Amino acid sequence: MNNEMCVEFDAKSVNEGFARVAVAAFLTQLNPTLDEVADVKTAVSEAVTNAIIHGYEKQEGKVILSCILKDNEVSIVVEDKGIGMADVRKAMEPFYTTKPEQERSGMGFAFMEAFMDEIFVESKPGCGTKVTMKKKIGQKEDMNQDGCGDSSY
Ligand code: ATP
Ligand code: MG
Repeated sequence: MNNEMCVEFDAKSVNEGFARVAVAAFLTQLNPTLDEVADVKTAVSEAVTNAIIHGYEKQEGKVILSCILKDNEVSIVVEDKGIGMADVRKAMEPFYTTKPEQERSGMGFAFMEAFMDEIFVESKPGCGTKVTMKKKIGQKEDMNQDGCGDSSY
């Protein structure tokens, strides 16, 4: 099964909740657990907030959010055409932030990495940023009590 959605919205903080809920609603068809929905919502929030706060700073712009379902995996792409980043690797380090005065903790990327299975970030100064995150949904039944997958399945 392959199914895809894409929405574009203004880079305004008021739209963060919309983005989170839109992905959660679309994801329902994979029968996710509540924990899985919460994880994906957190990751979407972090990526969309970054696009709005860092990508566009106080300028106007659009955030493009795509969600692709393929078998039991969700891929989410959050894209902005904002200022971009010169050093993505550095930006992704835990506690790294360029806005400490706004009480940012520099943990957004760390949360995305923790709550999703994979994350790729492409960025170019002056052009924008594209964050792609993937997560397998419905893997819990294959887990042992210790949380490790059983290779005999
Ligand atoms: P927190 O997410 O904890 O509130 P933060 O946003 O600063 O703090 P991260 O989300 O980890 O922390 O991002 C780290 C840094 O990467 C940001 O401070 C910013 O400099 C840069 N960054 C992240 N996303 C973007 C983006 N879409 N466009 C431009 N710069 C970005
Ligand atoms: Mg952030």
